[in-house]
Amino acid sequence: MTRPFVVLKFGGTSVAAPEGWRTIAAATRAHLDAGRRPVVVCSALAGVSDALDGLLPAAVGGRHAPVLDDLRRRHAELAAALGVEVDLSDVFEPLERLALGVSLTGEFTHRMRARAMATGELAATRLGAAHLQALGLPITWIDARDCLTTVEAGDTPAHALAARCDDHADAALAARLAAHDAILTQGFVARDPQGRTALLGRGGSDTSAALFAARLGAARCEIWTDVPGVYTTNPRDVPQARLLRRLDYDEAQELATAGAKVLHPRCLAPVRRHRIPLEVRCTVHPDLPGTVVGALEDGPAEVKAIAARRNVTLVSMDTLGMWQQVGFLAQVFGAFARHGVSVDLVSTSESNVTASFDPAAGAVDDATVAALLADLNQVCRARALRDCAAISLVGRQIRATLHRLGPALALFEDRRIHLVSQAASDLNLTFVVDAAEADRLVGRLHALLFDGREADDRLGPTWRETFAAPQAAATPAAPWWVAERARLLAVEASPAYVYHGPTVDAAAARLLALRHVDRVFYAIKANDHPALLRRLVAAGLGLECVSPGELDHVFAACPALTPDRVLFTPNFAPRAEYAAALARGVHVTVDNLHPLVRWPEVFAGHDIFLRLDPGQGRGHHAKVRTAGRRSKFGVAPEELGAVADAAAAAGARVVGLHAHAGSGIREAGAWAETAVFLADAATRFPDVRVLDLGGGLGVREKPGQAALDLAAVDDALGPVRRAHPSLAFWMEPGRYLVAEAGVLLARVQQIKAKGDKTYIGVDAGMHTLLRPALYGAWHGIVNLSRLDAPLAVTADVVGPICETGDVLGHARRLPRTEEGDRLLVATAGAYGRTMASGYNRRGAPAEVVLD
Ligand code: ADP
Ligand code: ASP
Ligand code: MG
Repeated sequence: MTRPFVVLKFGGTSVAAPEGWRTIAAATRAHLDAGRRPVVVCSALAGVSDALDGLLPAAVGGRHAPVLDDLRRRHAELAAALGVEVDLSDVFEPLERLALGVSLTGEFTHRMRARAMATGELAATRLGAAHLQALGLPITWIDARDCLTTVEAGDTPAHALAARCDDHADAALAARLAAHDAILTQGFVARDPQGRTALLGRGGSDTSAALFAARLGAARCEIWTDVPGVYTTNPRDVPQARLLRRLDYDEAQELATAGAKVLHPRCLAPVRRHRIPLEVRCTVHPDLPGTVVGALEDGPAEVKAIAARRNVTLVSMDTLGMWQQVGFLAQVFGAFARHGVSVDLVSTSESNVTASFDPAAGAVDDATVAALLADLNQVCRARALRDCAAISLVGRQIRATLHRLGPALALFEDRRIHLVSQAASDLNLTFVVDAAEADRLVGRLHALLFDGREADDRLGPTWRETFAAPQAAATPAAPWWVAERARLLAVEASPAYVYHGPTVDAAAARLLALRHVDRVFYAIKANDHPALLRRLVAAGLGLECVSPGELDHVFAACPALTPDRVLFTPNFAPRAEYAAALARGVHVTVDNLHPLVRWPEVFAGHDIFLRLDPGQGRGHHAKVRTAGRRSKFGVAPEELGAVADAAAAAGARVVGLHAHAGSGIREAGAWAETAVFLADAATRFPDVRVLDLGGGLGVREKPGQAALDLAAVDDALGPVRRAHPSLAFWMEPGRYLVAEAGVLLARVQQIKAKGDKTYIGVDAGMHTLLRPALYGAWHGIVNLSRLDAPLAVTADVVGPICETGDVLGHARRLPRTEEGDRLLVATAGAYGRTMASGYNRRGAPAEVVLD
C-alpha cells in the first residue's frame, strides 16, 4: 500500500529561527517513522514578504539597494545559524535585475510584484532543504509553481497577487510526488495558465498547504505557527483568550473570513471539500495539542470567537431616490465587480447603500478605489470611509445570543456603529466601527462572553494560563518590582508612581549602544520627573521638549544642560514660542508651512529642522500614530518643494530633517524606512546634516508579546547610514526609556459583587493613569500585598472617578483581595504622571524614585 501524504505548513516566524527548524525536522521525521509521506510547505522568513513588497516601490526612486542588502544579510544569517552553505545567487540576482529595471523605467506591473515577492518563499525553502538534507532527512525540494496552477490568467491585482487555484484531487500530481519520501516546497506561490508566477494573497501559504492536501488526498493538513491553536480572539490582544480545542469547518471558515489571521480565509474550502482534518499547532511548543478543525455535530447556540479586521473601507452610497429603480443594485455591484473589488458586508436603507471591503485581502490599491468611486458616482453619490474595523462574533445560531451583548454595546451610546450585518447562515454577527474603537470593543465583548466559562472538550485554557506563571508574569521576564517588593510596600503615599532608576539607566545604555545612532534625545513628555531627567542627561542623552513650559522645566532641573543638547519640537505653536526657543539656542523643528510663510523674519539667519510626514503612521493605537493622511503632524510629501522654497526665502538653513511615525512600534525595520525616506528628502536640502528618526520604540506590555529587537533596529540602519556617510542619525524615544521603570501603586478601598461581576475599587483611576481609558491600553495588575497567593477572582479594577470609563483593568485574575491591599499597575512609567489630571479634584499622585 502506498504511504499516505500528510501536509505540514510552517509560517514566517517558524522558518525564521533555527529553533523552528528543529520542530520542522522532528515533525517530518515523526511522520516518516509512522509510514507517512510528509509534504512540508514553508513561508518566507517573517518580515521578508513585507520587505519584498516594498522593494519595487523603493526601486522606482532608486532606493532598492539597502532593501536587497538586508534581504541577503537575513538569509546569510539564517544559513550560518543552520550551519549550511547555500548559493542563493540564482534567486537574488534575478531579483536585483528586476529592481534595477524598475529603477530605470520608473514603473512596474502587478506581475513583476508577484515575481519579486515569490523570491521570499523560494529563498527560505532552499535554505531549509539544505539544512534538512544535512540532518539526513530524505527530503526533495520542489518548486510549488510546478504543482499549483491558478484558475485564470489575467493582469489585475486579484489575478497576480491574490489568485485562486482549483482544489480537485489531482492523481497525476500525487503520482509525481509519490516518487519522493518527503518533500519541501513553498507556500504562497503558484503559476497562472500561461506559466507566469502568481501569488495566493498575503498569508496565503496556509491556502497552499490546503491545496496540496486536497489535490494529493492527504490524510491530514497541519498548520504550524506561533500560537498553539485557534483562540476565542487574538491572544496577543486579549491574554484572557481561550484555546478552541475543536472547531467545525464552517466555524473556522467564518472566523478566518472575519479576520482571525491564524488561518487564511481560503484555506478551509479545500480541506472541507475532501473532509481532511486540519490541525493548528505551535512550532515553539510542539508538545501542546492545538486546535483540530473537522466536521463536528451540531453544538449549542453560543459565540465561539471574536475576530476583528482593522483595515476595512466602507463605501457609502446615497441613492438620490434611485433605490426603487429596477437594476440599481445590479449597477452598483456591477461597478464593484468591474474593478475587481469583492464586497464583504452590505446594508441597505431607503436612501443609502453601504458596502464594506478589505483592501488588503483582495489586493485593492488606492487607484482602484478612486476609479470605483468615479464609476459609482455616475449612478449615486458615493464616498469612501477608510480606517474602519469590522468586529465579528462567530458561532452557531448567533442570533440567539444577541440579548447578552447589551453591556458591551453601551460603549457605542455616543459613537457610531457604521454598519451591522448578520449572516444569513446565522454563523456571524458583524459591527463596523472606527478602527480606533476596535480594541476596546473586542476586549469588552470578550470579557462579557467568555470570562468565567468552564473549560470543556471544546473550550480550553486561557493564553495566560498556558504561558504565564501566576502573577509575576503580568509583565514578562522577572520585572524589577518583584525584587523590590519590600521597598514598594514601604511607600506610604497612595496613589503613588514609583520609578526604578537602574531600569531607566539600563534602557538608556541599550540605546546609547546603538552603533548607527549618533545621538539620543529623551522625549520628556513621557515622564518629566527631575531626578530621571538628571539621570538621563548624566548618562549622555539630550532632551526633547514640545512647549516653553517643558523647556523651562529641563533647564531648571538639569543645571549642566547646554542648549545644543535640547530639541524643541512644538506643534501648532504660536509665533512667539519659536522666536523665544531660537533665542535660547536650542534646535527648533518646524512642522508646517505656515510659520515659514507667514513669519519668515522669525527664522531669518537661523538653522532649523523640518518635520516631514513619512506618509504612513505606525503604532499600537490609532491615537498614537502620528503620521499619514489623517494626522495633524508634519509637512506632507507633496509640500516638500514649497517648504524648501519657503525656508530659502525666509533665509533659514534647513540642517535637519525629522519624522516620527507613532509610538509602540515593534517592527525593527521601521526606523531604517524612515531614514531612507528622510535621506531621499534630504536631496532637496543641501545643508542637511542630521536625520532625526523619531522615537516610538515599543516596549513589551502584554504577556507573550515579543520585545522590540534593538539589535535588528541597528542592523537595519547600517546600510542606510553607509549609503549616506555625511548624515548623522538621531533618535528621540520617550516611552522606551521609562515605561518599564515605573509602576503605579494604588490601595484597595472597596470591593463589590454586582450581577455576575466583581469590582475592586482603588484610589487610583483615570485621573491618575489615563492610558486604559484613553487608548484602551493594557497594563498588568497584581496584588503586591499577596504576590504569591493563588489567583482566585476575576474582577474589574476601577477607580473613584464618576465615569463609566474609569477602569484600570477589565476582567483581571487576582488573588482573594481585601480592603487596604496594595495593587501594583505595571509598565506605568511613561505617560502616567504627565497625563494625570485634576478631574474630580482627587489630587495628584505622589512620585518616588528608587535608586
Ligand atoms: P504564520 O506566519 O505562521 O502564518 P500568522 O501571523 O499569519 O502566522 O498567524 C498567527 C497569528 O494570528 C498569531 O500570532 C495571532 O496573533 C494571530 N491571531 C489572530 N486571531 C487569532 C485567533 N483567534 N487565534 C489565534 N491566533 C490569532
Ligand atoms: N509570505 C507570505 C506573506 O507574508 C505568505 C505567508 O506567510 O503565508 O504574506
Ligand atoms: Mg499566516
